[in-house]
Amino acid sequence: MQVILVRYGEIHLKGLNRPFFEHKLIEGIKSALKDMGREVKVRQEQGRFYIFGVPKDRQGEAIARLTRVFGIHSLSPAVAVEKEYSAIWSAVRELVAHQLEGKASATFKCFCRRSDKRFPLRSEDLNRELGHDLLEAFPQLQVDVHNPEIKVCVEIREQAFIYTDEIMGADGMPTGTAGRAALLISGGIDSPVAGYMMAKRGLQLSAVHFYSYPYTSERARDKVVELTKLISRYAGKITLHLVPFTEIQLTIYETCPPKETTVLMRRLMMRIAEQWAKLDGALALITGEALGQVASQTIESLCVTDDAVSMPVFRPLIGFDKEEIITVAKKIGTFETSILPFEDCCTVFVPQHPVTKPDVARLRKSEAMADWSDMVQKALDNTETMQINSR
Ligand code: ATP
Ligand code: MG
Repeated sequence: MQVILVRYGEIHLKGLNRPFFEHKLIEGIKSALKDMGREVKVRQEQGRFYIFGVPKDRQGEAIARLTRVFGIHSLSPAVAVEKEYSAIWSAVRELVAHQLEGKASATFKCFCRRSDKRFPLRSEDLNRELGHDLLEAFPQLQVDVHNPEIKVCVEIREQAFIYTDEIMGADGMPTGTAGRAALLISGGIDSPVAGYMMAKRGLQLSAVHFYSYPYTSERARDKVVELTKLISRYAGKITLHLVPFTEIQLTIYETCPPKETTVLMRRLMMRIAEQWAKLDGALALITGEALGQVASQTIESLCVTDDAVSMPVFRPLIGFDKEEIITVAKKIGTFETSILPFEDCCTVFVPQHPVTKPDVARLRKSEAMADWSDMVQKALDNTETMQINSR
């Protein structure tokens, strides 16, 4: 019988809360495989999960999806057979024959583990028996105990599990184990990566995007929806708020000192995002800022931005170089969409000489030159909210 063996990571460290983390991980697995038929079952045993019933022709797809479920350390597509030598041997022979297809020679090593001590052969004995039979059945095989090309793994537990591959998972904590936070998402490279990184720590995400029709186009908005879908492949359900920002942006532009417009805009974005966060039950905000990347990301600017809200602001990229961020963006598949050339409301209104060391008291004063409360309320009222789930 085909089975997918799931090893989990950091949950092992959890004491009494462990069942809660395991439960959330099962939820993540089930939602990733929800359209694979009713036969799919997840069984938990001795700190592992076994997934049964995935249709044979969809195993590869199932594995690919599971590599995006946070909390999974690694996966092995395996065969489960009776705990009898003849059954084990015939499964091993079949798997190895498959691995040898198109190869003139290969090296191997057996890794047998007997957890069920009632099984008559000890681990070393089983290694020796299988090794012997493999060498006899396949003359093109050679043993290499240090760096084998084929790892023949056999685990004797409730059943005998046989596999040759271990595929790395996304690690992190199961989605929903760390509460909720709201990501300020632009169409750029950084914020999707920031959302991915915090979701990896178990946060459920809300996302808030500000657009400025007609200064930004429909396509810029579609790009953000698309990016949110890409993050959702990892983060599961995301509540996305699309907030009209044109009136606020034009007012900033008309009433405030030009060099302060970017920081003021950021303060207003944070405020509105905080409102949505509260309504969604989120306890923190997330941005894609990295120290020193642009004028609005100096330490002074970040202080002025934080001054506008009372929630903690998570900036997982704060110590990252752009190249490092790009590496993650490529790994998680958001990079290609992020670099599509659609304008963002930040870029449309950038001043030529923004302040790099803004002062909180001064900025509060500039901000007081207009009354924002009605405009903020209107932006909240006219927000379009979507539920995104690419699982
Ligand atoms: P990104 O690549 O995420 O756009 P960036 O390097 O372009 O980042 P900024 O444009 O200054 O930097 O934005 C800093 C952060 O502010 C972004 O990472 C994002 O969290 C938030 N942000 C910027 N523009 C928007 C927007 N239009 N809607 C929502 N959040 C935004
Ligand atoms: Mg940007």
